[in-house]
Amino acid sequence: MRELAEKREAMRRCLEFLQEGVVLLGPRSEVLYMNPAAAGMLRLQSPPPESGQHPVLHSLAPYPELEEFIEGTTPSASRREILSLHMSDAEGEQDQPEQVSLEMTMAAAGMARRLLVIRDVEAAEDVDRKRQDFVANASHELKTPIAALIGLLDLFDLVAEDKREDLLQRAQRNARGLANLADDLLALARAEAGEWQPNPQSLNVGDQAERVMEALRPSAEAKGLEMRVAIAPSTDDLWLDDFAMRTILQNLIGNAIAYTEQGKITIRAELTPDQTRLLLEVSDTGPGIDPEIQPRIFERFFRADVAHSRASGGTGLGLSIVRHLVKRLGGRVSLHSEPGQGSTFRVELPCRL
Ligand code: ADP
Repeated sequence: MRELAEKREAMRRCLEFLQEGVVLLGPRSEVLYMNPAAAGMLRLQSPPPESGQHPVLHSLAPYPELEEFIEGTTPSASRREILSLHMSDAEGEQDQPEQVSLEMTMAAAGMARRLLVIRDVEAAEDVDRKRQDFVANASHELKTPIAALIGLLDLFDLVAEDKREDLLQRAQRNARGLANLADDLLALARAEAGEWQPNPQSLNVGDQAERVMEALRPSAEAKGLEMRVAIAPSTDDLWLDDFAMRTILQNLIGNAIAYTEQGKITIRAELTPDQTRLLLEVSDTGPGIDPEIQPRIFERFFRADVAHSRASGGTGLGLSIVRHLVKRLGGRVSLHSEPGQGSTFRVELPCRL
């Protein structure tokens, strides 16, 4: 009995983590089991309890197309179909019902029971589309500096001696751009990979910001930008992931310098009064960001001005890396900006002392 109970528990855990929806139906289409994914796709608040009365599926998810599909399948037959269901969201916040395509597979499960497996076709297609877009964008971004490098090096033997220095400098810039892109693609892959886990360690936020700034200071000084730092001593010893913090700081401070032509960059860090969250802010006196494009700024490869971004060594990936890392750390990132008034990026991260 114990062995059986353990196996049942292991099975339940597997089902809870599945992306596919799984529903076990009794002879009268009553729900004997439903995993959370199925409840989500059918827009139920939560799966019905397994003990006690078993409600029939139609009373929980009253979609005529679904009822027709289930009742129209003989208990011993298998059937697969894509159903288009009209759903309103669980909180009833939407005026218009949303049309959702779900692939339903029904199979006999013995003892007059039936198993219904549900797959969100659109979500799967969306992931595929995003992946294809990403590969296309990344290849395009790689091709540009590679083509420039090849062109410049081909010219090398053909141009007069006094032009060679300039060619070399341009080749160097493109090579650096390629290296930046490779670094950012790796950082993004790392931040997005399911297996990446933050590895918190004792960290001094001020020291880390100082190290990041040291590398970026020459470009700030070249533009005559003032760098101000206001880091509270309460952030001297926090339990945080080193790679994530460094990457976030590098990208936000790097952008502030890259897009600001005059004035100052300010870096602030402090703990929330309840000491459970780190607040990090990077402000600049740059051009600000148009409200219309603010929602797109964290997308991969999005740049307001491609030429300017490239010229300053940008890849269009920095902010999407920041957003991913912050999300994986359980925090959030926001932008406050008005055209002509500069920009402030604010990151809030849960942390332990
Ligand atoms: P990039 O490598 O192009 O800087 P990011 O993902 O870091 O890529 O940023 C995306 C775009 O957001 C930039 O190309 C730029 O148009 C805009 N942006 C980011 N930070 C700032 C800032 N501090 N001020 C103005 N615009 C910014």
